[in-house]
Amino acid sequence: MARLHNYYAGPAALPLEALEAAREELLDFQGSGVSVMETSHRSKEYDEVHNETISLVKELMGLGDNYKVLLLQGGASLQFAMVPMNLLGPDASADYLLTGSWSQKAIKEAKIIGTARIAANTEQDGVFTSIPKQGQLDLDPKAAYCHITSNNTIFGTQWRSFPDTGAVPLVGDMSSDILSRKFDPTPFGIIYAGAQKNLGPAGLAVVIVRKDILEKCNKGLPTLLSYNTHADKNSLFNTPPSFTIYMVNKVLNWVKGRGGIEAMEKENTQKAELIYGTIDGSNGFYKNTIALEDRSQMNVVFRLTTEELEKKFVADGLAAGFLGIKGHRSVGGIRVSIYNANTLDSVKDVVAFMKEFMAKNG
Ligand code: PMP
Repeated sequence: MARLHNYYAGPAALPLEALEAAREELLDFQGSGVSVMETSHRSKEYDEVHNETISLVKELMGLGDNYKVLLLQGGASLQFAMVPMNLLGPDASADYLLTGSWSQKAIKEAKIIGTARIAANTEQDGVFTSIPKQGQLDLDPKAAYCHITSNNTIFGTQWRSFPDTGAVPLVGDMSSDILSRKFDPTPFGIIYAGAQKNLGPAGLAVVIVRKDILEKCNKGLPTLLSYNTHADKNSLFNTPPSFTIYMVNKVLNWVKGRGGIEAMEKENTQKAELIYGTIDGSNGFYKNTIALEDRSQMNVVFRLTTEELEKKFVADGLAAGFLGIKGHRSVGGIRVSIYNANTLDSVKDVVAFMKEFMAKNG
């Protein structure tokens, strides 16, 4: 069996150990005589997986008891709508910091529901190559919340530290960098992430809501769209995507076994430095135009001198075993997504490939 070096942006690589553990018990989960996929979501076996998954998220992220972890369907995209549905009243307004395509989508949904102000916008000629500085934020102190996209998966930028919004709770779309680095969750009222990058397979959004925010949520929403439904029922109001949650459990246990978020962060920094270092040392053969301090540690984007050369890079890369390195269709170029499960050894191979490609084509 030949497994490729998987650099897709999402769904993305999963830790080999998590896949192997799942394979091991695929047909008979913990002596239950059935697969975890086939067991009732009300069974004792599933219940343990479900609750352990929730406590692992809290433990790994250092969340206090004032946070509830919800396991929801509809991906991160449904959260673009659920956040304003739950938090925006008729007289309220929310701030959005526009740093890329995913923030744009979040704003579009918020505007369907209520008033969304753009409190910063780093777009220039259709692209986003930086993160706003604190002084560039036009914050409304009365905003119901301030929404940020912590890592811009398509443009390859990342909030390396989070903005100060005073008493206004931050809402963070952390789909592409959750569990990749340590941060203080205190300013966040809500953190949400689609699972299919750093957490597990697709089919789940992990949504972390502070309890004081839950108390303020709008009433009268359709049952499934209300955070309080899921908080009251421990995300078991209806049938959850149990197999996805089971896989997330395996991934979280893997993160814990590797030393938790601190260990992930250390390795993520090394991996990012290796690739950015190769780009910066290439005499313009590879180019990354992101402001240095805003470079993403998860999605490294770069260009070659011509689109033809980029096509060759992707084709030769695939032939050498590197999958998913083509940039997002909306921006072109190259994107190497280095999530937690992408190993340091594999990234060293990417760098060796980049150097070899440059030597042959430079
Ligand atoms: N936000 C970000 C930052 C993303 O990268 C993505 C998916 N790539 C989404 C939201 C949308 O996630 P989903 O497909 O789970 O709705």
